[in-house]
This record gives sequence, structure tokens and C-alpha cells, in this order.
Amino acid sequence: MNPSDSNPVPGTEIRFAGIPASPGVVSGRLAIFNHEEIRVRITPIREEQIGDELRRLEAALLKTREQIQAIKDHLARSLGDGPTEIFEAHLLVAADSTITAAVRRQLELRKVCVEHVYQHVIHAYAQSMRDMEDPYLRERAADILDVGRRVIYNLVGRKLADLYALDAPSIILAHDLSPSDTALLNRQMALGFVTEVGSTTSHTAIMARSLNIPAVVGLHHALEKCESGAPVILDGYAGLLIVHPTQQTRYEYGQIEKRRLAVEQKLEALRDTPAATRDGRKLVLSANVELPEDLPLIAESGAEGIGLYRTEFLFLNRVQFPGEEEQVNIYQQVVQTSRPHLAIIRTLDLGGDKLPSHQGLDPESNPFLGWRAIRYCLEKPDIFKTQLRAICRSNPGGKVRVMFPMIATREELTAALALLGEAREELKAADIPAATEVEAGAMIEVPSAALIVDHLAPLVQFFSIGTNDLTQYTMAADRTNERVAALYQPTHPAVLALIRRVVEAARRNGIWVGVCGEMAGDVVMTPALLGLGVDEMSMGSVSVPRVKKAIQSLHYGECQELTERLLQMDSGEKTRKILEEVAQRAYPELVT
Ligand code: PEP
Ligand code: MG
Repeated sequence: MNPSDSNPVPGTEIRFAGIPASPGVVSGRLAIFNHEEIRVRITPIREEQIGDELRRLEAALLKTREQIQAIKDHLARSLGDGPTEIFEAHLLVAADSTITAAVRRQLELRKVCVEHVYQHVIHAYAQSMRDMEDPYLRERAADILDVGRRVIYNLVGRKLADLYALDAPSIILAHDLSPSDTALLNRQMALGFVTEVGSTTSHTAIMARSLNIPAVVGLHHALEKCESGAPVILDGYAGLLIVHPTQQTRYEYGQIEKRRLAVEQKLEALRDTPAATRDGRKLVLSANVELPEDLPLIAESGAEGIGLYRTEFLFLNRVQFPGEEEQVNIYQQVVQTSRPHLAIIRTLDLGGDKLPSHQGLDPESNPFLGWRAIRYCLEKPDIFKTQLRAICRSNPGGKVRVMFPMIATREELTAALALLGEAREELKAADIPAATEVEAGAMIEVPSAALIVDHLAPLVQFFSIGTNDLTQYTMAADRTNERVAALYQPTHPAVLALIRRVVEAARRNGIWVGVCGEMAGDVVMTPALLGLGVDEMSMGSVSVPRVKKAIQSLHYGECQELTERLLQMDSGEKTRKILEEVAQRAYPELVT
């Protein structure tokens, strides 16, 4: 934020500067999404007011149930019944008579306002749940606190902004948006995202790029200075949130928007053209998918299939993980949408910032270095094998591609492949129709894997480089922490050298190699990835036409020479600067 903005006068233009996370410009009204707990003041009441207080509580509980039911109905319409189970549990909490009985007793005893008593009872109840032996009951504590917060908002007459129940197109401002929050988002209503924390590969940024909406992250203290409903312009190119923009600012941004639309229209014409360089090197451009809702965008983008389907999104916000049949159904949709190309279905990457609320993944002090992805799956063979069976069943009689995230050792890869073999055997023994050909791939996103890549290559049919994590682990810079965003450098020569190593090992072993991290969708990085020799790039579908245009403007031979230079450099800032200059020369319309 600019120092001059510390005491904003209401209605005057204020500019907040953060990290540009998804390009584009949009104007609209701000919807503030916060989970902040209201601090209730203790107000004494008289004996004869107890009845009124209880009636207020009843009214707030009724309103809460109506709100939860509305969210549940909305989600069932857009995502099916699975993710609504959690709201079923919330409805039960909002109707729990033991809580209201406890409130009544406390009201009679303490004679203070119902907000305070209710908050006290809810916290005590949640604590007793946390102390339980049974992990399922322990996890109910989060539901109780969630519902309790909603009831308190209703009691004090404040509106709790629900991402899932947004009823008008809005620019969403939050402290942070977790993958579980955004999985429930009413996507039609999101014009843009602004968060106080996060960096360019945090989930909010990835999601914004896949929805093709602007996003700015790392905007410290924006929540304190903004009010819900304020008119704003969000500039995802420069990383600005402009609150109460003046007429002049609106005009200037109108011009930028016009130019952007003109470029996009031109890009549409490229849909059916190959992603080939001027000297004829052809790449496969495929799409990253998080939720079945993303599928319709794929055909429009001209992507050749799906290079990364992040299955963990199906597992968030669920009381129970999806069963085999539900997964088969969804994976079949994914496979069908990809035709005539293939889809790469990635096995569960839970952990890190993707935490399901109900499956015993207790908070860890270093979640990105903890019990994540393949580490979790190998210790939960039932969950893992259910998923592997469902993947194999997604294309009976045909071919499927599956890949394993976060491989750090050869043993993990062999164990995952053994379970895949078992899943296939079980299907065969039970005479259940399944794919006849299964191609398995390893994600290379941990430096140890990149360094032992020659030992991994003979085991798989392809590699997919996850540059989001590869950068985070190589630079030891948390991809979601804006404080170390400057250190998070995908173009650092160390990261480029690891990619180079993976590509060379893939060549030696006769397998193909793709990139499915955010680097693949960033046109500034295209010359480097091209020069490093990857065969495929997978990205949010909206980036496909832009990257195709970049590839068509470049010369493979020149990119190879450029990459040799980049690999010799001593800093990520220098390599980034060179790449920006190349992009500016080769396709200025995509980078300005
Ligand atoms: C990556 O790490 O680059 C990747 C594609 O996986 P995710 O972003 O889901 O961790
Ligand atoms: Mg990853």
C-alpha cells in the first residue's frame, strides 16, 4: 500500500499494491470474505429478558439453518451431492437441542446477553469434541465453530459473506482463500480475487488463472481499509487494487480492457493451428483441470487433452471420501472430454495447503514438507487403491494415463506402481471392465527426484515436471508465503538446471516429458521451456491460446541457444529479465 493511503478519506481513490497473480483488469463491487470471529461484548440482562433472548437465539438459528440449506442446495446443483455432506453436518449442529439447553441454563445462571452465552457454550462444546479419542468426533469441532460463527453473525445482525452463496458478480477480498474455500465458490459470481497473503503459485492464483479472472495477492492489511460493496478496479497486470476509482482512472482502464479484448479475439483464430515454432518444433499443449466444471473450457481453448487432472479437489469439503463408483463416474467424464486425446489423472495430492476437513490430517508444523501426496497414499492403501481402480475403470478396453505426485525416492515410485498393478489384477480377477493399457508417470517436483531421475525413468512411461513445487523445494521458499515471494524464482538457474537434467534423462530413456506447473502457462517462460526441450506443456485452459501464439512466434534453435546462456547465469533475476526482453520482442501484445 502507498504510505499516503494510511488514512483514507471515504470515497477518495485509494491504491493498494500487491503481487500480480493473474492477468486482466476488472471493475465491480468488493465482497469481503472473512472468517473473522466477532468479539461479543458482555451485556447484563434482567431475569424477565431471558425469554426474549431465547427467542432471538431461535430466530438466529432458524436463519442459520435457512442459509446453510441454501448453500447446500446451490452446491448440489453445481457439484452434485458429495460436497454437500458437510453442510448436512452443519444443519445438525444448528438444530442441536443440547446446545440450546446449555444456553438456556447459562442464561438463567449468568444473566448476560445471549450472544455471549452462546459463544461461550459453542467454544466449550468444540473443546470437548477436540478432546475426544475418536478422530471423527474430534473433527466435528470445526463444524461446531463454523456454525457457531454463523449464528453469532445472525444474532448481531451482520452479514457473513459466503463465497458459495454470492448472489451478485463481485471482486472477492479475503485474508486467504484455501483450496477448500475455492472448491465451494460460486464461480459465475467471481470477477476477481484479492488476498492479503499468498504468492503467484498459491492456490488462489492458480484458480484465478484457470478461471481467467484477474487476481492480486500479498495485499497486506487491505481488509482493514476496505468495506464490502465499495466500487473497485482490480488490475491483475500491475498488481493493483484501486478502491473508489476516479472517472479518469476508469477511462484509462477502459482503454486497457479494449486492447486486451482485441488481442483475445485474434487468439481465438489460432484454436485449430498446431503449437509449432517458426522452425517446425511441435509441442503438445494440454490443459490443467481442478473440477469437472473446468471441463467445458478445454475444447474452446484448443488444448490437446488434459495434462493434469488434480483429483484431490474431489476429496475436499467431504465428510466421507468419494467411493469407487462416484470416482469412476467423474474420471469417465474427464476421459471423455479429452477425446480424441488422453487425460493424465493425477492421484491424490492431499496435504500441504490442500487439507480435507474430516480425514485425520492433523495440522503439521511444516505441511509442505510433511505427510503429503504419495506419502499419504502409500500409508492409506485402501483409499489409494480405490482411486487407482477407479482410474483404470475410466476407459474400459482403452488406454489411461495416471501419475504420482511428490515422488522423492525410487522406493515410493515402485510401491505406487506395485499398488497400481494390484488394482489392475483385482479388477481382472473380478471381471470388471478396465483399461487394457495403463501408462504411468512420475511427477518430478522434488529436487531429490530430479537428481536420481535416471533411476526413475526406466520405471515409467513419462515424466511431468511440477515446477510449482520444484521451485518451492529448490529455493526453500514456501510457494504460498508472500514474504518470500521474491526468492520463489522459477527462472533461477538452479531450477532450470534441474529441468534440463530431467529432460536429458527422459531422452536417454526414450520417454516423453511435460511440464504441468504454472511456468507452462506463463508466456515469459515459454522460450526457456522450449529451449530446455520439453515435449508437452499443461496449463489452465485459458492460457493455451496465449502460449500457442508465443510458440508460433519463436524459433526453437534460438531458444536452445538462449537456454544455454540462461543456464550459465548466476541469478534468477537476471534470467527473468532476459526472458522478459525476449517476450517483449517476440510477442509484445501478450506481455503488455
Ligand atoms: C506443481 O507442483 O507444479 C504442480 C503442478 O502441482 P500442484 O500445483 O498441484 O502442487
Ligand atoms: Mg505439486
